[in-house]
Amino acid sequence: MSRSAFATIHLGALRHNLARVRALAPHSRVMAVIKADGYGHGLERVARALSAADAYGVAAIADGQRLRAAGIRHRTVVLSGIDEAGDLLEVRRLDLDIVVHHDHQLALLRADRDPRPLRIWLKLDTGMHRLGFDPARTDALLAELRALPNAHAELVLMSHFASSDEPEQPSTAIQLGHFRLATAHSHAARSIANSAAIVHCPEAHAEWVRAGGALYGLSVEHGRCGADDGLRPAMSLSSKLIAINRVGRGERVGYGGRYECPEDMDVGVVAIGYGDGYPRSAPSGTPVLLHGRVAPIIGRVSMDLMTIDLRKHPDAKVNDRVLLWGPELPVERIATAAGTISYELTCGVTRRVMFLEDEH
Ligand SMILES: *Cc1c(COP(=O)(O)O)cnc(C)c1O
Repeated sequence: MSRSAFATIHLGALRHNLARVRALAPHSRVMAVIKADGYGHGLERVARALSAADAYGVAAIADGQRLRAAGIRHRTVVLSGIDEAGDLLEVRRLDLDIVVHHDHQLALLRADRDPRPLRIWLKLDTGMHRLGFDPARTDALLAELRALPNAHAELVLMSHFASSDEPEQPSTAIQLGHFRLATAHSHAARSIANSAAIVHCPEAHAEWVRAGGALYGLSVEHGRCGADDGLRPAMSLSSKLIAINRVGRGERVGYGGRYECPEDMDVGVVAIGYGDGYPRSAPSGTPVLLHGRVAPIIGRVSMDLMTIDLRKHPDAKVNDRVLLWGPELPVERIATAAGTISYELTCGVTRRVMFLEDEH
């Protein structure tokens, strides 16, 4: 048996979502964040589809190596920057922008004797307390970087929100206030808005927005999905029915016998499981779509397979396609059932799943 699980990436949806981000933030340049293999959609594929973005954002230099190896020359920002002196050579060779968020990175820049200027995004910690400098240091840091011969004169100041996906939280406005105060007299471009802030917080847009999830049609906001914000899901995950079995009343299905059949019923077996990235934590009752109608998962998701309730699908046949998530079944709904967020699910689709593309 060949594997039947497919992830179809909708290139038209990616392009639509970039246009949607531009419409939401018409005065900002757009960094398309394509880290984690384009949130699981495929780094090079997503980069090509989003070539109209003003820059790409990646997590690590290795992503930059992949982009350049694929012939993609577009401006690319390494969001975690450099770790060691050798990285300076590599970011110059690959022509990558770097984020500078820590004193150890500043020390590497000071010690660097290569005069070729690097494009720098200076990261401030306005309250998330993950990466970034104390905003009180902004002026001094800017002065030092502007005086360094190996730093490009055009710096961008950036920060990151902790809770922009929870619009009722006051922390976003507080962080924005710190950012504005620290950057007001900087004469530098600024960037703080990620996807949720692009949608909910126009006052945070500034010169650059950094869109990740929105480009894939994803939302992380509780109770919402990307479509609620005019976005189109860019991934459809599907597989097929490989068996239909009649199981008697009172019999149990799957590992641990977690599901007991309340009557004699048809149980469908779908060729996808947590080895493909479908979450094992999705409980009985989590929906899949068969012929465009919901069928609930029953019992535990296993590594290669899952079982579904076919009582409402008397016409189901072996080899029928089953949709696990996609435009017709929001991945946010599956994520909620599994106790996680949509990003983790798309990032987690494994490489044994066959990836396809369509222009839709
Ligand atoms: C991942 C990331 C983003 C994108 O966040 P989304 O919520 O997916 O839009 C933006 N900026 C930084 C620094 C990031 O690490």
